[in-house]
Amino acid sequence: MTFKAATVALAISASFLAFGAMAETIGIAMPTKSSARWIGDGNSMVEQFKAAGYDTDLQYAEDDIPNQLAQIENMIAKGVDVLVIASIDGTTLSNALENAQAAGIKVIAYDRLIRDTDAVSYYATFDNFKVGVQQAESLVKGLKERFPDAKPWNVELFGGSPDDNNAFFFYNGAMSVLQPLIDDGSIVIGSGQTGMDKVGTLRWDGAVAQSRMDNILSANYNDKQVNGVLSPYDGLSIGILSSLKGVGYGSGDLAMPIVTGQDAELPSVKSILAGEQYSTVFKDTRELARVTVGMVDAMLKGGEPEINDTATYDNGVKVVPSYLLEPVAVDAANWEEVLVGSGYYKKEDVQ
Ligand code: BGC
Repeated sequence: MTFKAATVALAISASFLAFGAMAETIGIAMPTKSSARWIGDGNSMVEQFKAAGYDTDLQYAEDDIPNQLAQIENMIAKGVDVLVIASIDGTTLSNALENAQAAGIKVIAYDRLIRDTDAVSYYATFDNFKVGVQQAESLVKGLKERFPDAKPWNVELFGGSPDDNNAFFFYNGAMSVLQPLIDDGSIVIGSGQTGMDKVGTLRWDGAVAQSRMDNILSANYNDKQVNGVLSPYDGLSIGILSSLKGVGYGSGDLAMPIVTGQDAELPSVKSILAGEQYSTVFKDTRELARVTVGMVDAMLKGGEPEINDTATYDNGVKVVPSYLLEPVAVDAANWEEVLVGSGYYKKEDVQ
């Protein structure tokens, strides 16, 4: 080896060493693997953090609050540099995050707001109110298409998990569209059940939604048909559709009600193509990962993370500076353009 080559080799190995020693670790706490979207979120983040030169510690808590808490405490003890958390219950992390703060570990709330603490620096999410607006607009579009002569339309409402701040934004967004139609008599809520305290679905559990739908149908729909169901998440929609199919909707002269959703999960996209679920809302989790990685990178390098909302997300202690991405309504008319066109799915995944 010439002297020059040896010097270059030394310099390269030194910079590798320095690089290796410098790589910071990002702790990523995700709620559950039972829904494909969170698996996508986790994978995209690991990939993108890696590409930006970070190590990651990715944990899923299977919707168990103590489990998530233990995972976060563990990450703090191991000394991660930043925590990215999609919480199961947005109100149960205050103590753990105080410890993170004391240890100088910054926290980003991922998709779901973390409440009741000032130890959260930023929030990366979608425009959650708009998700609800899009769900309700799609519901109304479907009612007009499928049931032009059935007014007033019989509709039932489902909400997400009451411990997830997003659930209220989805519900309020949807009601901003539906309430005027309820008030003018175009829509009737057959069961009379409205408000998140009555329509919420703990832990976003599809089985809970299915049994609530069973009860609603048997108590209120013996002599009339339900025309539409506001569902805030694909996993609930699948349960609601099972309940509806169980009593004959979607066959004979019982037309399938318009059922909405969220996340564009594969079983629901397939259901849309089969004419069962009517619509979903696509939230590109690759983009959410990109925004989050950008925030972390800026924080660790002493820069200013990019935010576009400083008013909406009050967590009870402070308004958390946020970046809101745009959701996209998807139905049988545009699924291919949106989901395949963006490279989120391959056509053969769906058909
Ligand atoms: C997310 C939704 C998801 C729901 C259930 C919400 O916090 O924003 O995209 O459908 O949780 O996992």
